[in-house]
Amino acid sequence: MLARHGIRPRRSLGQHFLVDPNIVSKIVDAAGIEPGMKVVEVGAGTGALTAALAERGATVLAFETDRSLEPLLSEVLAGVRGVEVRWVDVTQVDLVEELRDGGWRMVSNLPYGVAAPLVADVLRRVPQVDELVVMVQKEVADRLCASPGDPAYGLPSLVVGLHGEARTLFRVPPTVFYPPPNVESAVVRITRRTPPPHAEEALRLAGRAFGGRRKMLRRSLGFPEEVFVRAGVDPTARPETLEVEDWLRLVEVAGA
Ligand code: SAM
Repeated sequence: MLARHGIRPRRSLGQHFLVDPNIVSKIVDAAGIEPGMKVVEVGAGTGALTAALAERGATVLAFETDRSLEPLLSEVLAGVRGVEVRWVDVTQVDLVEELRDGGWRMVSNLPYGVAAPLVADVLRRVPQVDELVVMVQKEVADRLCASPGDPAYGLPSLVVGLHGEARTLFRVPPTVFYPPPNVESAVVRITRRTPPPHAEEALRLAGRAFGGRRKMLRRSLGFPEEVFVRAGVDPTARPETLEVEDWLRLVEVAGA
């Protein structure tokens, strides 16, 4: 179909299209799609996932930045009901405004370039999305699902820790995509929960500390010793070892 439409996949847009119907079904199953559900998809691409979601009865709002895919996508979606495609760069869209009322799931094979920041942004700013079932690079999946002390632990892990719960559901080999990427992928489920008070302040503080990743907290945060003592946090610790509660106590004590 790509050849017939004269389309060459663009790596710069993370265009690795799913060509294995088994994986498509597995993602739709993992997302627990039932008739009437509202699904937001980022990167409709050639529509394999879009069509499968709609065929299970979901109402799909799909964003796709590459308008040259329009004739092909129209062909794939001909006769499929319940899909609206917005031809726009999702990073330029106010999802809070677009989704309005709640009850959305995000189900996507995310483009590599935007995956990690997009997931963090949705968790922090778009409460209308209750759950995400997204395919990402395996390294990104590891970061999203890491616990304190894991080598992959960083700011994205803390965003998830504050706003939800993440689990890698299954890995996906390069062979199910056209063209195959150079890396392994994984499907992750993130279920939202209400964040604790001061979650944003904790993230800002952690941002300062992770900025100086190799530094002890005493140096990267510059708080007097007493703040650490009162918060029950070791001033010589490194940021990747702190639990969510440690950041929240530091915020409380320091008023950061
Ligand atoms: N959903 C399709 C599939 O699974 O076969 C395509 C997935 S492909 C990994 C990612 C898609 O996201 C591409 O079609 C690409 O053009 C699109 N894309 C990349 N950056 C985007 C952005 N900023 N906004 C919207 N779509 C984007």
